[in-house]
Amino acid sequence: MDQKGDTRGHTDKTIRIRAPEQVVVVDPPPEPAYPRYRVEPGQRASLATVDPNETEHYKKKKDVAKALEKQRRRIQDLQERLYAENERGMLIVLQAMDTGGKDGTIKHVFSGVNPQGCRVSSFKAPSAEEANHDFLWRYHKSAPAKGRIGIFNRSHYEDVLVVRVKNLVPEDIWSRRYDQINAFERNLSLGGIAVLKFFLHISKDEQKRRLQSRLDDPDKRWKFSSNDIKERGFWDAYQQAFEDALSNCSTEHAPWYVVPANKKWYRNLVVARTIADTLEAMDPRYPPAEEGLEKVKIPD
Ligand code: AMP
Ligand code: MG
Repeated sequence: MDQKGDTRGHTDKTIRIRAPEQVVVVDPPPEPAYPRYRVEPGQRASLATVDPNETEHYKKKKDVAKALEKQRRRIQDLQERLYAENERGMLIVLQAMDTGGKDGTIKHVFSGVNPQGCRVSSFKAPSAEEANHDFLWRYHKSAPAKGRIGIFNRSHYEDVLVVRVKNLVPEDIWSRRYDQINAFERNLSLGGIAVLKFFLHISKDEQKRRLQSRLDDPDKRWKFSSNDIKERGFWDAYQQAFEDALSNCSTEHAPWYVVPANKKWYRNLVVARTIADTLEAMDPRYPPAEEGLEKVKIPD
């Protein structure tokens, strides 16, 4: 926890008064000295303008190791506070083209976070029961409770992505879902659940490399599905569907981020620091302790 860390959780006001410069620096929080990749609400998202190979000044995996570890610690610490406070929560949505790295992101960003406070939900094609309900039903059921972080590996966005590209429902149905999704996410945020959404942006070449390495490596073959080849044929239609989803559904309360993801290590850093920054802005606090605890003696 930089800057804000040492005053957070204190009820003793004198600490702030003794260090007024901290208040000036921290409130409002300074702009970070790195790109955020946020899709500005109300603006058209353009994937062509974000280079999937972007890595800032970092050249290789080793260069981000320390920075990533720092972000992981921030998340661990803030997640503990969020859990203890038990007033608010966070929903993290991960979407990408096939091989985009959703699983790897979860593994690397959340290693070390207390599993009690976190839950990953992965969404495949809906079951018969799920398909018999409104499309948001299964997602709402998996939304995080107060104090928790929920991670959606695929999400309600599939219902305007694969469903649109593969014509699984008519256009007049999927096209009204953007509004339904915005209302759903607004509802979550009004209930104290911050929503943030990451599109892991890889290039078509990079997808080819990753599919090839799944074929070449016997330990990765289980990840390969011939369906991935078929889906790759719809690359442009998917990119278009993603651009529309990101454009229509990036809001102040539930922003989309386009994460350069050709380099896995850079992708992990961007996702981790965005989550940490959002949690820090939420400023979750440990609840006050019972009064008079300093007099308590534990009996032998
Ligand atoms: P995987 O993540 O590789 O296990 O694949 C999950 C599959 O489920 C993908 O092919 C998705 O397109 C598909 N899927 C996820 N959500 C939906 C949905 N709402 N409707 C149809 N297919 C979906
Ligand atoms: Mg797959």
